[in-house]
Amino acid sequence: GAVGVWYILNYFLYRKTNNFLILSVNTLAAIGAMMVFFIVTGGKDGFSIVWLLLVPPIGIVFYKLFYGGAFCILLGIFMAVYMWSPLHELGYAYSETYLVRFTIVYFFDTVICIYINYTLFESRKKQTALLEIAQQANSAKGDFLANMSHEIRTPMNAIVGMCELVLREDDLSDNVRSNCCCIRAAGENLLAIINDILDFSKIDSGRFELVPDEFNIASTINAAISLAETRRGGKNIEFIVNADPNIPRGIIGDEARIRQVIVNLMTNAVKYTEKGSITLTVSQTRQEYGINLFVSVADTGIGITEEHLDKLYTSFYRVDTKKNRSIEGTGLGLAISKRLIDQMGGFISVKSEYGVGSDFRFVIPLKVRDREPFIAVKEPQNVCAAAFLDTEGKGMRTARNIKKMEDMLNVEIMTCDTAEKLRAAAERRSITHLFVSRDKYMENAKLIGEFAETSNVYVIQERAGAVTLPSNIHCIYKPFYSISAVSAFNNENIVPTRNMQIKFTAPEAKVLIVDDNALNLKVAAGLMKPYKMQLFTAESGAKAIEMLHSENFDLVFMDHMMPDMDGFEVAGRLKVEPEQAEIPIIFLTANAVNGAREMFINAGMNDFLAKPIDAAVLDKMLRSYLPKRYIKTAEPQKEASERGKEVLV
Ligand code: ADP
Repeated sequence: GAVGVWYILNYFLYRKTNNFLILSVNTLAAIGAMMVFFIVTGGKDGFSIVWLLLVPPIGIVFYKLFYGGAFCILLGIFMAVYMWSPLHELGYAYSETYLVRFTIVYFFDTVICIYINYTLFESRKKQTALLEIAQQANSAKGDFLANMSHEIRTPMNAIVGMCELVLREDDLSDNVRSNCCCIRAAGENLLAIINDILDFSKIDSGRFELVPDEFNIASTINAAISLAETRRGGKNIEFIVNADPNIPRGIIGDEARIRQVIVNLMTNAVKYTEKGSITLTVSQTRQEYGINLFVSVADTGIGITEEHLDKLYTSFYRVDTKKNRSIEGTGLGLAISKRLIDQMGGFISVKSEYGVGSDFRFVIPLKVRDREPFIAVKEPQNVCAAAFLDTEGKGMRTARNIKKMEDMLNVEIMTCDTAEKLRAAAERRSITHLFVSRDKYMENAKLIGEFAETSNVYVIQERAGAVTLPSNIHCIYKPFYSISAVSAFNNENIVPTRNMQIKFTAPEAKVLIVDDNALNLKVAAGLMKPYKMQLFTAESGAKAIEMLHSENFDLVFMDHMMPDMDGFEVAGRLKVEPEQAEIPIIFLTANAVNGAREMFINAGMNDFLAKPIDAAVLDKMLRSYLPKRYIKTAEPQKEASERGKEVLV
């Protein structure tokens, strides 16, 4: 026991001082103590052998292989001398057998301990070496992805950005417009694939972080629907949306990521469904911490067999690659979705029947900041609506949806399937809002025209092959659901349109854009043009510094990687000058991996904008970083007023 305590004290002393001299002196002292121990007790208590067996493991564990081993060998030599010389007669007189046993047992024990620890040590050394190699390979992969992202995104920025600029021109022929839309869509598709690969590698290496903020689920649902709509092409699929109006208006979560998962499930549903319907259901249950948001995407597509269900979330896994060869995909979508939902603290599941359809659903917990319902009819008592459509056959689903809306939105909606019934309904009550199916409108255009003089009339139609309507009749594109109905009842457009409307200008604001690539400068300047700001451009860091000294800027957009002086260096120089330090700097970067956001914020920059520049994100940034006094409400744009009659885009 005493020697055990001795060991422990030595160990801490050695750890504290890290001095080999102290260790050696102590080792010698321990040997001395052992000698005294043997002489005085001589194993009379019968525990000597046990103690002896403990010495090598304890020694080697405490002093590691080299010193522990050396200590045990020294002690072994001492024992051999002690046992086999008349020395031991000073203490207890051992029998011959004891003498042999003690020494042999001790020596064997020492050899075993040294051997075991040696192999352990060797395998650890190998492991560390392998780990280092793996880490190097991983960081090389990360660097490669970052570079690839940068290299691909830079030209993509020019392609998508230039398309955006062309599409903003007023005098385009339909042909050019449609070709440009195709280029933009293809560019966006390619970007989505690159982003998927980058996301996956980020999540996989644990470098991924959610950015929660307050958001309204309406824009998430609309964005998902309009994206799925563009993916649908000419397929005969009907979208159905059931959105619970009681979902709170202000919920807190990473909207972009939640949307990414919904869009992913929706596009999968579109990809793997040839006919029938796709139903998006968004609902909630109240919880102490806020709500559980429930989302389900159910389709009537090809379905998935049971054997494949478990493997769906495996990365790069695709079912039936031979049969589905024509369907594009990387097999990453569900793997990313699952990881995102896991990270949000929720779970995702799927029910599917082969040949019948699939139902992907997820639940995530979200905090709530504003409990008000996300959609509500402002004055339900003043609304008396009617729907004029077939209640059987083609219009059945829409009619059923309208019935559901009546309860959810707390408004009265009379459904009529013939012109007579509609007239009779109008005689009983004055109709404030009339929803008409495209077919009924075509058959009864005159009657509907009469209604349009006194009430708000909306024709519900498919985007493809939509009929042009007179100016007093509004158009609602399918799917017709609670959000579009509420927009109609409230006479407002709560949905951001895809071709963004510029809502403010800042003619007095001076903005500097710095980028070494002339094409990128043109794209960025083009995207900012509608804000009517005073735009300046610089093609190098040095030029930017020169300009910043001669002019007072309100905001700087700075490219990250530039030859000679990169964005960081320029920003670093500005931040130390008292007059320039306060100018907000937003970094433009094509490098979206490696925790870009944290990197820029930690380096003292205000924010960053990924290339290709997303017009909506740019809009948000200008609004938050330009001085408030310069922001002026914009005149409604020509294009916007033309589209004013659309409730939903
Ligand atoms: P992909 O890019 O191939 O669509 P995902 O990870 O999104 O990759 O999906 C993995 C596989 O799961 C797909 O290849 C497909 O076979 C199957 N799958 C996903 N969604 C559906 C669906 N709605 N209906 C049928 N099969 C689906």
